[in-house]
Parts: sequence; structure tokens; C-alpha cells
Amino acid sequence: MKRVLITGAAGFLGSHLCDRFIRDGFHVIGMDNLITGRLSNIEHLFKLEHFEFYHHDVSKFIHVPGKLDYILHFASPASPIDYLKIPIQTLKVGSLGVHNCLGLARAKNARVLIASTSEVYGDPTVHPQTEDYWGNVNPVGPRGVYDEAKRFQEAMTMAYHTYHGLETRIVRIFNTYGPRMRLNDGRVLPAFIGQALRGEDLTIFGDGSQTRSFCYVDDLIEGIQRLLFSDYPHPVNIGNPDEISIREFAEEIIKLTNTTQKIVFKELPKDDPKQRQPDIQKARELLGWQPVVNRREGLEKTYAYFCGLSQEELNQKEHNDFEKYIRK
Ligand code: UDP
Repeated sequence: MKRVLITGAAGFLGSHLCDRFIRDGFHVIGMDNLITGRLSNIEHLFKLEHFEFYHHDVSKFIHVPGKLDYILHFASPASPIDYLKIPIQTLKVGSLGVHNCLGLARAKNARVLIASTSEVYGDPTVHPQTEDYWGNVNPVGPRGVYDEAKRFQEAMTMAYHTYHGLETRIVRIFNTYGPRMRLNDGRVLPAFIGQALRGEDLTIFGDGSQTRSFCYVDDLIEGIQRLLFSDYPHPVNIGNPDEISIREFAEEIIKLTNTTQKIVFKELPKDDPKQRQPDIQKARELLGWQPVVNRREGLEKTYAYFCGLSQEELNQKEHNDFEKYIRK
């Protein structure tokens, strides 16, 4: 039986990866320090013989007994509000954390896939973003802690590949949504749905002309698995190229949730990218992959998940308190 270590296992993407690898007959070892992850995302796996969980911070030395075939490094805060709250941990997990994962992979002769991000392109001047674009990142802006950690992580991973001959894969993940996103993590989809469910107005930052391209989680997981099993060591974009402005997106959520609330406009956070759309030609050619879930279907599934949350969970309102975390 193949054994896979998934860091960030209790997070949004990590927990879906655990499900997928369990379903595919792997022995899954999940690891998470639970700063932003939640055990409720993986509690259904605890009873399984082939699932283990380590409560551990991957920024510290990682010990896993036994053989390992694959390591997927998905531990990291991943939303702007989380980087503002825990900037140092964000930098550490992308730098010390990836170093530990790569060292562990060498020791176990395992293949590593690391989760990178469209944030390596910063506020992009090339559109759509191709993998050979180097990006436009402000290292000392609020997103710098995430963007630079992920850029360092890619550099470190390539160095282990070229210097040590380690088998490595790098996925650049674009905006992804689906069940198990945290309602209060500040990202736009849970923010809008949470507001609609609580009967609040939907907050658009800026004038809403900025664009994003949203990928349903099942499509993303499929793409990641195909990349892991491919032989391609360079970065590959995985995301859905169906681009939409945040203004139109808010209107879609209003329709989806049937809310009678209106849209209100708030200040645009610093360095908020104006446009984002993945060029997925590489994924199409190399992996035979493309997204198959359209936004309507994906949003309906995601909304059904949020509708099942408790009143207590719905009432956590941290998501709009950006100001609170910015030191003047
Ligand atoms: N956004 C918004 N209202 C919110 C939360 C986010 O208009 O309540 C905007 C945000 O400024 C950004 C876009 O939605 O332009 C996507 O934000 P998110 O934090 O989800 O992801 P990222 O900016 O990292 O792509």
C-alpha cells in the first residue's frame, strides 16, 4: 500500500486531498498544527484504519515513522486576513516548513508536491497568467509574507530537484472554492455567502471591477493528483479560466441565496490584484486536465454546505475586520 503524507490536512484543500487519497486506496498520514485548519474537516476519517493524524507544526522538524511514497505540502494560511493575523507563521511554513518536507522526502526517497499559488504572479501585468511569467509582487506589502514565502518555496523545491535529484512537483493554485472553506477566513465567497445568510449587505472591496477566476475544489484535486503522478517538475497552473468581476460575482451570490440585501462598497485592500485568470494550456497538454464543474453547479454545492452550518458558526464576523490586524 502506498503511503502519503499530507501537511495542512485539516484545512480546506488538505482535507479534500485526504478524502481523495483514502478513496484511491492509499495509507494517508495527515499533519496539521490546527492554527487555521479544523479537525471537523477530517473527523470522518479518524475511524479508518488507513488514516493517521499528527498534530504537528511542520515548521519544526518532522518525524514520520515508516516508509513514505509521496508528500503533499499544503500547510499554510491562504487568505489575506490570515496573513495579516499570522504573518510570521505564514513565512515560516512556506520556508522552514518546505525545507523540512523536502528533507523528509530525501530521507524517505519520496516524491514531493508543493502547493504554490497564483499569488506568485502578484498583481499581474500579463493576462492570462502563463507559468513563464515572473510576476509583479510587492515583497513588503500585506500579501508579501505569503507571496514571498511561496516564491521561496518554489525556489527551494527546484533546488532540491536540481541539486539532490529529488522528484518534485509544483502546482500553482488559483482561487478555489467549495465545501469546508472557513466562513470567516476573509475570502470573497464565504464572505458573501455568510453575509447573505446573516441578512447583511454584501461588501465589495473597491468598485468590484477586479476579476478572479474560481475553480471548484473537485476539479482542483483532480488536477493536483494528475500532476503528482506526471513526470513534470516545473510549475503548472491549476485553476478555472472562467473569469468574472467581483461585482458580477456578488450579483450571482445574491441570486443564488435569494437575499434581499444590497451591495455596499468598502475600501480596496492594499495590493489587491486587479485581474487574475490562469492560462491552463500546460495542464491541458501535460495532464489532459481541464475543469469540468461550472460555476453555477459549484456554487450550489458550496451554498448547500454553508446552509448546514450552525448559527454560532454563522455569527462569527471576523472576516471584514482587516483594519484590526494592520499595524499603523
Ligand atoms: N473581496 C470583496 N469583498 C469581501 C472579500 C473580498 O470584494 O468581502 C474582494 C477582494 O478585495 C478581492 C477579491 O474579492 O479583490 C477576492 O478576494 P479573496 O480574498 O477571496 O482572494 P484573493 O484576493 O487572494 O484572490
